[in-house]
Amino acid sequence: MQGQVADVMKNLSEGVPVVTDPSFPDEVNARLLVVEATAEANIKKTDPVAGERVKQLLAVALRASTSAKKVMWLHKAADVSAAAVAPVSACRTGCDSCCHIEARISRLEARVLARAIGREIVEPEHHRPVNVQGYEAPCPFLVDHQCSVYAVRPTVCRTHFNLDEDDLLCRLTPGLAIPVPYYDTRIFAFTGVAMEPDESQWADIRQWFQV
Ligand code: SF4
Repeated sequence: MQGQVADVMKNLSEGVPVVTDPSFPDEVNARLLVVEATAEANIKKTDPVAGERVKQLLAVALRASTSAKKVMWLHKAADVSAAAVAPVSACRTGCDSCCHIEARISRLEARVLARAIGREIVEPEHHRPVNVQGYEAPCPFLVDHQCSVYAVRPTVCRTHFNLDEDDLLCRLTPGLAIPVPYYDTRIFAFTGVAMEPDESQWADIRQWFQV
């Protein structure tokens, strides 16, 4: 379990810490100086009732009897969370920046997604390395700037929100890994590990579905 938790932490390390860098444009560095305060203020505006509802749904996910039901309830919890966070985030319909960066998901979610779309997953021993640094390797499910598996997309996609005031820090700049104040999704990742520890190997969605 310890290794799995470490893997989850690796999954969550993206975008942290939010610090300036001399290689970033001045506009970006100016934003990074204030963005943590912006994110904190935005998250305080979310409905606390939604947080309680998320916890209830995650508890149901943990008790569900099959993998498909566990992931279904995990997604329900993610969607309640998303409904609360979306209005205070910078994310807007039509933006696909986060479909070009790393999207790590567990084997459990990969397997349930594969079944839903009639595909097979690539097992970890056959995973090829992925390089998303240049933003030239979009998710294989991104088609014409839209998610082609939207109804069954993984939890990480449902809960990925930039808590800044606009998308400045998300704009993809090849060669620069600009940090973004993402919404904290650890509760979903840890629930995913706890649901089925044997299925909690994590890899990028491109690796599970390499084409
Ligand atoms: S599954 Fe859909 S939402 Fe998630 S990264 Fe791929 S295209 Fe984007």
